Amino acid sequence: MYVHTESARMHIDPGPGALMRLRSCGIDPTKTRVLAITHCHPDHYADAEILIEAMTHGCKRKRGLIAASSSVLRGYGDIGPAVSKYHSSLAADCVLLEPAVSLEIDHIRLSALKTFHSDPTGIGLRLESPDGVISITGDTSLKEELYEEHRGCDVLIMSVTRPLKARIPYHLCTEDAAMLASSIKPKMSILTHFGMRLIKKGPASQASWIEKQTGIRTVAAWDGMPLLMRNGAPSVQKSVSRQLQDAKSLSVDLEE
Ligand SMILES: [Zn+2]
Repeated sequence: MYVHTESARMHIDPGPGALMRLRSCGIDPTKTRVLAITHCHPDHYADAEILIEAMTHGCKRKRGLIAASSSVLRGYGDIGPAVSKYHSSLAADCVLLEPAVSLEIDHIRLSALKTFHSDPTGIGLRLESPDGVISITGDTSLKEELYEEHRGCDVLIMSVTRPLKARIPYHLCTEDAAMLASSIKPKMSILTHFGMRLIKKGPASQASWIEKQTGIRTVAAWDGMPLLMRNGAPSVQKSVSRQLQDAKSLSVDLEE
């Protein structure tokens, strides 16, 4: 997921193929200033080190911020770390993200939220900018505490791995996403992080089921989907245009 505003360039959870995806969207990875990684599973960090090399201009400039869970930066039990000490040292700064940690970067407030996942140090994220508030569940199962964590957002981006009637531990399924969205009441819900079963059922069908249940506009993300936020109003764009990249607003590009 890539977030850009007039002053911010932030890459969140660069999974496999993230570098090539940036290229196809016409986004320059050497301009990234923040790399945020929610937890230590490869679908969230696989391209992290190569993107740190891009952010630091081929390891030549100490530049940018890495903000990540402790599993990603230090390792936790048998998990991780995902970023080597060498690559961490290339950035100008590294911040360990855990729930309740919050930092202001390039006019965006980035806050870490709770998750309930198989990486116990994992986090969700909240992005607050003058153009609106986006809450990202990260990988998590549904627990009551999440209702408070995500309250007050304009857009709720949920990692929905499983379709209807197929719940598994540590992840959201379609019913969970509907329950969370109906409690939070964002202006728009976005589903991402689909597992194979959900892809076979059709992400759009799961989104329309949630939309019917909640009355909240619900979109199934596709690779490269641009989301534009302006004055708290979210809209999904057809493609990442140069105009969008330079827009004086908050925009986010998502991957499935
Ligand atoms: Zn995960």
